[in-house]
This record gives sequence, structure tokens and C-alpha cells, in this order.
Amino acid sequence: MISIEKQNFEQLKAIVRVDFNVPLGTNNKVLDSSRIEAAKPTIMKVLNDGGSCILMSHLGRPKKRERGLSLKHIVPEIEKTLSLKVKFMEEAIGEKTKEAAKALVPGEVLLLENLRFYPEEAKGDKEFAKKLASYADCYINDAFGTAHRAHASTTTIAGFFKKKKFSGLLLYNEIKAIRKVLQKGRKPVLAIIGGAKVSSKIAIIENIIEKVDEIIIGGGMAFTFVKALGGSIGDSIVEGDKRSLALSIMEKAKKKRVKIYLPVDSLCSDQFSDIGKKKLFDINKIPKKWQGLDSGPKSIEIFNNAIMSAKTILWNGPVGVFELESFSKGTAAIGSSIAKSTKRGAFSLVGGGDSVAAVRKFNLQNKVSYVSTGGGAMLESLEGRVLPGIEALSN
Ligand code: AMP
Repeated sequence: MISIEKQNFEQLKAIVRVDFNVPLGTNNKVLDSSRIEAAKPTIMKVLNDGGSCILMSHLGRPKKRERGLSLKHIVPEIEKTLSLKVKFMEEAIGEKTKEAAKALVPGEVLLLENLRFYPEEAKGDKEFAKKLASYADCYINDAFGTAHRAHASTTTIAGFFKKKKFSGLLLYNEIKAIRKVLQKGRKPVLAIIGGAKVSSKIAIIENIIEKVDEIIIGGGMAFTFVKALGGSIGDSIVEGDKRSLALSIMEKAKKKRVKIYLPVDSLCSDQFSDIGKKKLFDINKIPKKWQGLDSGPKSIEIFNNAIMSAKTILWNGPVGVFELESFSKGTAAIGSSIAKSTKRGAFSLVGGGDSVAAVRKFNLQNKVSYVSTGGGAMLESLEGRVLPGIEALSN
């Protein structure tokens, strides 16, 4: 996979797959432009080299043309972010678009209509990809968030550009961050895996157990482990059918000499809300009618010590119900320990869904080494899967 850093785009037209799947509010206003911001370095590199960009993206999951999901709504936001005019084509495919692409001069940006208006996109259709490819001299994929999908614009199109296909800066940085943790991590490498259910994280645990030195298992999923080890967990969330799986993970960790940290205490409540009674219990002595909703102070201290001595840290999933104020302390503490450890020189990657939301909530996004932009794509990478979009850039 070649990064655009190694290429000069002077006089070249690049068709760039970006991820402009941004949230739209009333009046079709962009509510959060971070995805547009994230693509800016790649677009500007091409333009500053003296090239031009044809941008393509999806927005939402339409099966056919839907006025509310037209990319034309986000043109003003792209223009504001890039500080330049953007031409928009209402048809991603067609003679007019072909002409517009042909007429593009260095420094100009053309945006194509939402690719998902065309069923061929999600099918990975070859003819559709060929038409898109015909607009440009080279292809750049900077949409890490969709790299786990084998669509026409993320995978098939790459086949039409033999050596003229590149990873954008965002996509490259995501891959680099994952490699820095799972392949080249400085020891000790610590993974913090939290969230509600073991079942959704099992593939990640099975992959990383081969690659890390220590794993903190926190949040709701820890109760399946505690119960499997014979503890009383009251009414805490549990997956009864995953107990033997939990035990086999513990066994495998022992064989591989991977240290597993489970919580030792929990802040519990008699209801899943902020207003119920609250009480601390040892993790394996939670009475009936009580449910563990956050890590307790002793657990937080153990987790903190592990985080402070780690040189490489991966964080996926909150260690409590952080959306509720009363049960957000454990997750906030994990975040601030990671920030402190990062300041001391550790490399930290926060990836996948809710831990990214937590990092933003506690305003720590600039205090960790890397916050992933790709939910599903990051999860699949952590599971050890080869993403089709990445593979297509490598062949
Ligand atoms: P996931 O999407 O699997 O990473 O799970 C994230 C969700 O796990 C968040 O919405 C948390 O509120 C939830 N969670 C974390 N700890 C607990 C817990 N002890 N009990 C119930 N849900 C939890």
C-alpha cells in the first residue's frame, strides 16, 4: 500500500473516496463536520501539488435517490472547510459528469452525488466502478470508515488503476496506529476491553490475546467472567450462554502468559438509572436486586496502575454505563489515566464506537495518541480481519 505522501500529483486528476457520511440536522445543516475536516489533509495535498480532485462518498443508506440524502446539502460545509469553491454533479455517472471531470483544471474540486443512490455501488459492480475510474488518472482511498465494505468505490475501482492507487493520509494513519499497537507495540502492551457484552467483543479478544501482554476486561462484559468464576453478580448484565467461553479465554490467557485484570469491586444500583439507590460491593458479592453499573474505586486503582506502567495502550469499550452521570467515573478515570500515561511516553489508540464517544465526552481527544474515525472498520481490524478496501490498495 502506497501513501499519497510518496506521490506528486502535479497535473494529475485524482478520484478520491472520502467518508462524508456526516450527520444532517433540520434544514439539512451539517451537525458535525469532523469527517470533512479529517479528509482535508489528503485533498489539500493533491491540490497543493498542482492536481485536481474528484470527490466521491456515500451519505446514509439510501437504496435509491432520496432528496434528503443528496450530497449537495453538504457542499457549503465542504467549501467552508477547504476555503474554496466546489463543483457539484447531480449524476455520479453520465456524459455531463464525464465532461465536467475532463474540464477540471489543477486546484479544482468536483463532488459527485451520493454513490448509494446507485445500487451498483454496494454490489461492487465492475461497470459502475469502471465509469468512475474513467474520470481520473489515479485513485485515492481516504475513507477508512468504509474500508471494511467491498463496494464499487472502495474496492472494485482500485482494479482499474494498477500502480496509480494510493491510500489517503487519514486511511494511512489509521492503519499505522493499528500496526503500532498490534504488530510493533512497545512492551508491555495493554488492551482495555469494555462494553456491554462479551459476544460482541469475543473476536477482538481472541485476536489480541496473541499480541498483547495484559488485558483489562471491564464494563458489563466483566460480569460474565465473574459469574463463570463462581461469583454472585446480583442482577448485573450477563450472558449465561457465554460462561464457558469466558473460562476458555481465561485458560488461553494463562497459557499465553497474558495477564487478565478483572474488576474487584463495583458501584451498583437497584435500577438502571441515575436516580436509584447506590452502593459499592465486592465484584463477586453483589446481592440480588442490585446491578453493577460502574467500576469501583479499588478496580480503578488496579486499572490505573496497569495503564501507568504500559508502554502501548489500546482502548475499546467503556468500563461502566458512562452515559449516566452517576456511573461515568470509572470510564472517566480510565480516560484520564490513559492521557497521563500518554504524556509519559506511552502510545495510546482509542478505537471503536463507545470509547471514542467517551473520550470526546471527557474532552481527552487531544491527550491520547490516536482516536480512530472508523467504528466498524476499526473493530474488524482489531479482530485481525483484512479489510477489502485496504487489500484492494495493496494488490
Ligand atoms: P459496546 O457497544 O459493546 O462497546 O457497549 C457499550 C455500552 O456498554 C455502553 O452503552 C455502556 O453503557 C454499556 N455498559 C458498560 N458497562 C455496563 C454495565 N456494567 N452494565 C450495563 N451496561 C454497561
